[in-house]
Amino acid sequence: MTDARRNRPHLTVGVDLGGTKVAAAAVLPDGVGPVHSASTPAQDGPDAVIHTIVSLVARIAAEHEGADLTTVGIGAAGSIDPVSGVVVASTASFADWVGTRLTDEVRAALRPLFGDVRVGAVNDVTAHALGEASARGCGATASMLVIAVGTGVGGALLLAGRPLIGARNAAGEIGHIPVSEAEDLTCSCGLRGHLEAIGSGPGLRALHLSRGGDPGAVDARAIVRLAADGDRLAAESIAISARAIGRAIAGLVVATDPAAVVVSGGLAASDGLWWDVVHDTVRAILPAPFQDLDVLRSELGPRAAMVGAALWATRSRQEER
Ligand SMILES: [Zn+2]
Repeated sequence: MTDARRNRPHLTVGVDLGGTKVAAAAVLPDGVGPVHSASTPAQDGPDAVIHTIVSLVARIAAEHEGADLTTVGIGAAGSIDPVSGVVVASTASFADWVGTRLTDEVRAALRPLFGDVRVGAVNDVTAHALGEASARGCGATASMLVIAVGTGVGGALLLAGRPLIGARNAAGEIGHIPVSEAEDLTCSCGLRGHLEAIGSGPGLRALHLSRGGDPGAVDARAIVRLAADGDRLAAESIAISARAIGRAIAGLVVATDPAAVVVSGGLAASDGLWWDVVHDTVRAILPAPFQDLDVLRSELGPRAAMVGAALWATRSRQEER
């Protein structure tokens, strides 16, 4: 690094790479800068996805003229080897994605623009957990289970501030926990009977339709609105879906004993039936030693994965020294 580069303020960018959207922002000591986003060209292959990431990072760097882009952290959907930065597994929504050397390729694409930039990548829900723990002031010590309910159902566990990665880089893939209510519905992985098939947003809709619900309810939000307007079938579908999520959370809690559980995603963000059923189900299942467990909503919301990915990349940078 040249002296001129060393003397400039450092810029860290966090990227949240999802199946439908890429979001990125500067992660600053006092918070997160404006979020830039673009559609994920998931079906166009790895080069197109990497180009989208690099374009967003370049746009943010242009907003911080005079700063030196040193670190980019990526929270990515699917399983990422957190050491090599290689994509190990992903859903079919990404074409040719498995085997992509995500961090190496983003680093190579950034080099002509910014010189050597540290790039780190980790699963998006793990990134979310790291961001959430940091926002709560317990980043280094957190024992926290984070459950993300959205297009899919994901989980991440922090123990003493460190994420559990697993032997296959797939720890926390709780969307594939078996639940009897989903026996007739197909999960995004292609198998039947998994939590995600009724617990995700699209899963809730599939469950509702399988119970005779109106196909005019185009997504989970529409079903929530129907229930709020007094539609009993919609309310029952939400209760079945939320109960399955609550049971899965309770099972993970007794297995891992985290200090707190954070539930994120659109359904968790709103007060209402879904949240109440999840909360009450967890409470009803957990035996005495766990009764003080907090079940909390996400504090950072969609920004958590960007903050956590940036922390992950920064942390691995420090550990290298
Ligand atoms: Zn599955």
